[in-house]
Amino acid sequence: MISLSLAEVETLVGGRLHDVPDPQARITGPVVIDSRKVTPGALFAALRGERADGHDFAAQAVADGAVAVLAARPVGVPAVVVEDVTVALGRLAAGVVRRLPAAVVGVTGSSGKTSTKDLIAQLLRRLGPTVAPPGSYNNEQGLPLTVLSADAGTRYLVLEYGARGAGHITYLTGIARPRVGVVLNVGTAHLGEFGSREAIAAAKGELVEALAEDGLAVLNADDPLVAGMAARTRARVVTFGESARADVRAEEVTLDEQARAAFTLRTPDGSARVQLRLHGEHQVGNALAAACVAREFGMSVEETAAALSEATAVSRWRMEVTERPDGVTVVNDAYNANPDSVRAALKALVAMARGRRTWAVLGQMAELGDASGEEHDAIGRLAVRLDVNRLVVVGQQAARIHAGAKLEGSWGEESVFVPDAEAAVELLHRELRPGDVVLIKASRAAGLERIAEALLADQ
Ligand code: ATP
Ligand code: MG
Repeated sequence: MISLSLAEVETLVGGRLHDVPDPQARITGPVVIDSRKVTPGALFAALRGERADGHDFAAQAVADGAVAVLAARPVGVPAVVVEDVTVALGRLAAGVVRRLPAAVVGVTGSSGKTSTKDLIAQLLRRLGPTVAPPGSYNNEQGLPLTVLSADAGTRYLVLEYGARGAGHITYLTGIARPRVGVVLNVGTAHLGEFGSREAIAAAKGELVEALAEDGLAVLNADDPLVAGMAARTRARVVTFGESARADVRAEEVTLDEQARAAFTLRTPDGSARVQLRLHGEHQVGNALAAACVAREFGMSVEETAAALSEATAVSRWRMEVTERPDGVTVVNDAYNANPDSVRAALKALVAMARGRRTWAVLGQMAELGDASGEEHDAIGRLAVRLDVNRLVVVGQQAARIHAGAKLEGSWGEESVFVPDAEAAVELLHRELRPGDVVLIKASRAAGLERIAEALLADQ
């Protein structure tokens, strides 16, 4: 955070100071929304959550060293009072980002934003101080909080732009306009809210519409709805993908027994071999997108390839592969799921088989609206077609996956339906054998990481 006086904060957010003895007192520490994380010099933003109201913790935050509270009403301790604390966070971040020397890199897409953001940050750290959000901070609160965690020394600010509807990304680019905007893919995540893939593409494309002429749009050549966004930006365009059309390409892609990809990174400036540590072929596209960003900031192809080969998974529960002492491999991908990421994960599972028995433990994919039933069916059918050995479908909302597998015809006992995670754990405890590979995946709401944790606790 750059240092700001309370009077400056008041002006930037369009609020009013209450109970402030000294408007020149300075915020030097982070902006926090969890009062337990307050440190001296902080600004505590009082948000109203589902369970708790930040305003109830205002006095405690100030007692712990917060200089003031950003609040929706006077709270009896120094406060900048605004109509809407979330909007004020955005305004504050917008004011701060203009004073920062950092180049903003924005990432959007239906799947892989966090994974790619983490890759980009690991590359850019080699060029200079880089700030990227922890986990998946990609909305109207997380994005400003990330911006506000940067300081005058930050050279690169890597941000994730999430969208649950039209205009959401435009709101976020209004806070921080990227210099480089990456669009990974247009899938069916949040199809329920958007209605169609075209509507999703329209929303994701808002990222490149916000770029200035001297900016760079990094677009996926393998996804027609993304490649088409070239027409919607004033910025220069660079494309990535496996197709020959792409400016930055992956050639000679191979997968090892843990579904880690190796490939030749081919760019207009030369090529170099990459051996990823991340699991799943879908990481190739994410790595290419990250390579395009590094190239824009002057990293050589050799260094980019070396950095990609060293990059590790930073955010939890995304294709975390653990080998148990008894030879059972647990692939914990329980962070989230949509049809595209489940397809990617099933393919990675099958690539890992090498004669071993494969299990897909799948729960619901949330927020698919009217398409939900069909999308779940399709995943069940795909599991059969890919020849996954055992399918365990967890929870009533996922039942159509089981139905889809049965529809495919050739399967009998291979697909099992269980009502909840506990029943899945019981079944797996009983039936897993040394050498088996188990993928666990579902939307966040299903909480299937409990299964992975139970399987790993057995070690
Ligand atoms: P969210 O919308 O939840 O923030 P995200 O776009 O940030 O998601 P990640 O958290 O990076 O995406 O990954 C979510 C899931 O998608 C993981 O299971 C991951 O393995 C898978 N995934 C990552 N990249 C891709 C990709 N390019 N295509 C398909 N699936 C992917
Ligand atoms: Mg994310």
